[in-house]
Amino acid sequence: MTTTASRTQRRVRDGAYILAVVPLLRWLVAHHAVAPGTAWRTRCDTYSSLLWPAACGPSGRCRTCQARIGASPYWLEAVAALAIGLLVASGARGWELAAYTWWTAGMLVLGFVDAAVLRLPHRLTAATTAGTVVLLAPLGGPASSWWSAAISAAVLAGFYALTRIISRGDLGLGDVAFAVPVGFGAGWYDWRLAVAAVVVGHTLAAAGIVGRRITGRPSSPLPLGTYLVAALLAVVVVHRIT
Ligand SMILES: [Zn+2]
Repeated sequence: MTTTASRTQRRVRDGAYILAVVPLLRWLVAHHAVAPGTAWRTRCDTYSSLLWPAACGPSGRCRTCQARIGASPYWLEAVAALAIGLLVASGARGWELAAYTWWTAGMLVLGFVDAAVLRLPHRLTAATTAGTVVLLAPLGGPASSWWSAAISAAVLAGFYALTRIISRGDLGLGDVAFAVPVGFGAGWYDWRLAVAAVVVGHTLAAAGIVGRRITGRPSSPLPLGTYLVAALLAVVVVHRIT
């Protein structure tokens, strides 16, 4: 009886934890999903309401003018609930849970912004990295985790910087910077996770291109960040659970 009660209590707490985070993520996506050179969005597209709180519900529509803004309806909520739910279920607690909730949230926002406007804003990348480092700091942890995280971040960013030079700018600077939190967050657990995430992410992206060709849709620039985020969350969650 006590076990059932405490389990229910824990589920309610975990659910509340997820619900509290998601509207803020929707706001962050809508705020940053704008074309380069444009000011960050603070109001809905008809300027009738402030984004917060009018356009932060799961439908992605402004309550005043019904215009759709930011992430696709319900997708962000579903993915965030799944990712954070699995993180909680994986047994992460305390500072580790806080750090990886921050990291997951940052990654999701970046992934959805990249999918919408093919951008990975530096301010989001920097905030994701800094917050993760700061929240992991009280945990201490073995020096090997920190080295693994730092080296994974540096190697991955170096790899993308080189790709950018070789491709003569085809790969955006946002992607290069984005490699830092990708490498750090995955590498803190194991540098091999960072490598696995990149391999899986690029495979997904390639599958996306093939899928477009097969279905006869026109080819368009690829949101590499979105594919990397999907791969990364899958790889880290599977690692934490197994
Ligand atoms: Zn509106």
